[in-house]
Amino acid sequence: MSNLRNCSKCGRVFPYMGRNICPRCLEKEEDEYQVVRRYVRDHPGAGVIEVVEETGVEEDKILQFLRDGRLQAKGLTASLRCERCGQSINSGRFCESCINEVNAEIQGHLPQKAKSEEPKRPPRGKVKDKMHIKDRGFF
Ligand SMILES: [Zn+2]
Ligand SMILES: [Zn+2]
Repeated sequence: MSNLRNCSKCGRVFPYMGRNICPRCLEKEEDEYQVVRRYVRDHPGAGVIEVVEETGVEEDKILQFLRDGRLQAKGLTASLRCERCGQSINSGRFCESCINEVNAEIQGHLPQKAKSEEPKRPPRGKVKDKMHIKDRGFF
């Protein structure tokens, strides 16, 4: 009765444990997080582009760490924007006023289908070559 899933990153089948990426990719993500965290600690105020170039970690991932609230760096948060109005924010996906508006909408129109479940933007199809090269280290 094992609950198997395909990893959303590498496509491997793995036993599902609450995340839709496999332990191997999770570990890789953790490594990348540590690298980024160390870099911004040593270079406070470094912008996203600089961190991407110096650490080799994808911009999307760095932004994801910021959105998750795991990473806090002045230079990096400047590039994080509210998905609704575009205002700059420190963590999460929306600015405070949008969060309030969204909450009010949800409370006001509860029977309506929640729109937040739909992806806000189409996934970017490109997979960077260097990720494949790195993958080899795990075989
Ligand atoms: Zn994987
Ligand atoms: Zn907003």
